Amino acid sequence: PDKHIATPSRTKEILAKYKFSFKKSLGQNFLIDVNILKNILKHAGIDEASGAIEIGPGIGALTEQLAIHADNVLAFEIDQRLLPILADTLKDYSNIEVIHQDILQADVESAIAQHFKQDQPVHIVANLPYYITTPILMKLLRERLSVASITVMIQKEVADRMAAEPNNKSYGSLSIAVQYYTHAEVVMNVPKSVFMPQPNVDSGILQLVPREKPPVYVKDEDYFFKIVQASFAQRRKTLRNNLTSHFKGTYNKDTITNILESINIDGTRRGESLNIEEFAQLANGFYHAEK
Ligand code: SAM
Repeated sequence: PDKHIATPSRTKEILAKYKFSFKKSLGQNFLIDVNILKNILKHAGIDEASGAIEIGPGIGALTEQLAIHADNVLAFEIDQRLLPILADTLKDYSNIEVIHQDILQADVESAIAQHFKQDQPVHIVANLPYYITTPILMKLLRERLSVASITVMIQKEVADRMAAEPNNKSYGSLSIAVQYYTHAEVVMNVPKSVFMPQPNVDSGILQLVPREKPPVYVKDEDYFFKIVQASFAQRRKTLRNNLTSHFKGTYNKDTITNILESINIDGTRRGESLNIEEFAQLANGFYHAEK
């Protein structure tokens, strides 16, 4: 137990040894609780056959647990200062590779092909830097990576938005964007006290399981996501009013009313009441009318 990196004493010792100062701009909040890490691994479904990809290993708290419980680990870290530290803290493990790279710039699919065995289940597991949670997750989803699951610690409010269902106050275009690619679930809420330094916000563990194919057929994905965004532009407004603003110069209110009627969607509803099937119907209907 004492050997674990993820304890307050060991973390302080490592930070002092290397005179490491946290960079807030890189979202550096390190985990100091082994039980939370074990929970993350359990939810991620990590076992001795798994390949693991970690984004932002920090000083190696989660990386170490992955090395113990998975077959091998590939980690991407942007902060150059952490590389010599990781080489030291993880020196006892021979199944870890750390790449010094911004995950947003990384070719993750090629890295998977290079680092993992063919047919090996690969899981992405991370305590993400909060300032770029959404860009990172959307990049990973849009690339349709061949991974079995993505399990991440993120800001609770963002986790709730990504996993929200219709008529929930957290439901919005981000819910649709994430759920178009994955089954999303908040599996655990996490207190601030497990981090050093403690963040200002509450956290949650979000689990994403990529879908084999999207749950709905859309004629044009970009167009679909634009219509979804337009439908939520002003949450208190009706669908018809939001769409009227969106199509200003293309369609007037009457045309919009007609198109909505032709596809059997009530324009007095609010965007937050539509499920993903109805958004697909909406986008396909307008796409058809426009093209
Ligand atoms: N995994 C460690 C832990 O749980 O203790 C550290 C987590 S900390 C919240 C986020 C980590 O991501 C930091 O090590 C930070 O330097 C790194 N990071 C920030 N932006 C990054 C990026 N664009 N690409 C890769 N790593 C990044």
